[in-house]
Amino acid sequence: MADAPDRLGTYRAKRDFSVTAEPAGAATTPPAEGASRFVVQRHRARRLHYDFRLEVAGVLASWAVPKGPTLDPKARQLAVHVEDHPIEYFDFEGVIPKGEYGGGDVIVWDWGTWAPVRTDDPAAAIEKGELHFDLEGEKLAGRFVLIRRDRNPDPSGKEQWLLLHKNDEHAQPGWNAEDHPRSVKSGRTNDEVAAAPKALWHSDRPAREASVTVGWDPPTEEELAALDALPGAGGTWAVQGRDLKLTNLDKVLFPGRDAGPPHTKRDLIRYHARIAPTMLPYLVDRPVNLHRYPDGVDKPGFWHKEVPSHLPEWIKTWSNPEADEGETARYAVVDSVAGVIWMANYGAVELHAWTSKAANVHEPTWAFIDIDPGTQTTFGEILVLARLYRTALDHLKVEGIPKVTGQRGIQIWVPVAPGYAFHETRGWVEKVSRAVGATVPGLVSWKWEKDRRGGLARLDFTQNAVNRTLVTPFSARAAPGAPVSVPIEWDELDDPELRPARWTIATAVDRVAAAGDPLAALVGRAQRLPAL
Ligand code: MN
Repeated sequence: MADAPDRLGTYRAKRDFSVTAEPAGAATTPPAEGASRFVVQRHRARRLHYDFRLEVAGVLASWAVPKGPTLDPKARQLAVHVEDHPIEYFDFEGVIPKGEYGGGDVIVWDWGTWAPVRTDDPAAAIEKGELHFDLEGEKLAGRFVLIRRDRNPDPSGKEQWLLLHKNDEHAQPGWNAEDHPRSVKSGRTNDEVAAAPKALWHSDRPAREASVTVGWDPPTEEELAALDALPGAGGTWAVQGRDLKLTNLDKVLFPGRDAGPPHTKRDLIRYHARIAPTMLPYLVDRPVNLHRYPDGVDKPGFWHKEVPSHLPEWIKTWSNPEADEGETARYAVVDSVAGVIWMANYGAVELHAWTSKAANVHEPTWAFIDIDPGTQTTFGEILVLARLYRTALDHLKVEGIPKVTGQRGIQIWVPVAPGYAFHETRGWVEKVSRAVGATVPGLVSWKWEKDRRGGLARLDFTQNAVNRTLVTPFSARAAPGAPVSVPIEWDELDDPELRPARWTIATAVDRVAAAGDPLAALVGRAQRLPAL
């Protein structure tokens, strides 16, 4: 390992993994527990830095290195000695929620083993201010020195040290950490981890409970091939440890659009299986309303909220204690890839997860801005309105991400901190919307009744209410061609190719592989809405 640092570096550098689905090939085996381990985490917090950590006496002795460690023997990198970190943090890769200590994204940039040199008491050497050691990592190797520059702490109370590499056979003049941006744990970059984290770290919790897994794995190629091989009438699909009974796989659910091919129930099931890891962050812990079209989207569909008696017992449910007689009492709460697949087989073409979680349905987690086109509204006018909201949110320093609905409109999803009531998010969105609408009075109607709006758009703030839902990100829509609701970057509003129904169940998975999910980083963000 030590004689071939970063063996895959050139391979990785030649490929742009953001536009090819090819695996990045960088995941390596973690160093064995019990060995003296080191880890370097590339951490984009308020400022980018590399956290350099050595396992010493059951904790991770830690330095924050703004420019990153290097193999360049001429470089002397500033290394700010920071507090020891718990061992549990050793292989953490994911997102620390904004607002918590160290909020940002983290990758395991390098890991391996280390050995002290000229001392058998590294803790004492650190206390004295000078530690020589050898590293055997995937990227870093050879002899390093950490040396305290000054006993006087910097203004933040931290000691400034220097990290340098000796001029040994591993030395490489000009070597720069930023040229080697991928994780040794997953092959992913900070951008990719931020877009679809597999874990969150809650710095305010005890170390043992701080890491929360949020990722799901897609089905394997073998599992997908088994789905493709099932007869048209259906059969049992073994996927993700579940046996799912699938029916009527060749039934056309979506007629083609613009002379394109129709899409069958098998196509929808395949799409649900592949998109589930991306869609689940918006479904998990929430009751979900189902818009079902078991006979295809050209027949009338219906809202289905009450779970059927044949719902598998492994799909969680939530019973609404406030349901009146005749109202839906028990809702599905989907938290697994198999659960998302089951919904497709059930003919649930559209999934509309609640804005709140089952644990507290009166507390919204998102504030919704819904640009609802009227009969006369053009897509160009929708874009005008979306850009006005963008400007408004920028001025208010509020983060939100737009998504195309898959039908005609655009919504903007704004994450909110715990503790809001729906009347508060609704009131806030109404105020912003009234200001936006006032700048383009010719485009917007405030009339409640559809037929009195003169074909104009409606800036609909009323969906900010319990059990009023917008379509879940990445859900299909009940329309020819099987369009999908997809979150986009703000700059994509200027993409001449953008259309509200641009992506379909045939293209949305590739879109995510290429562009990620810009909304993912906002899931769970504890954002306060400024008073207006
Ligand atoms: Mn850090």
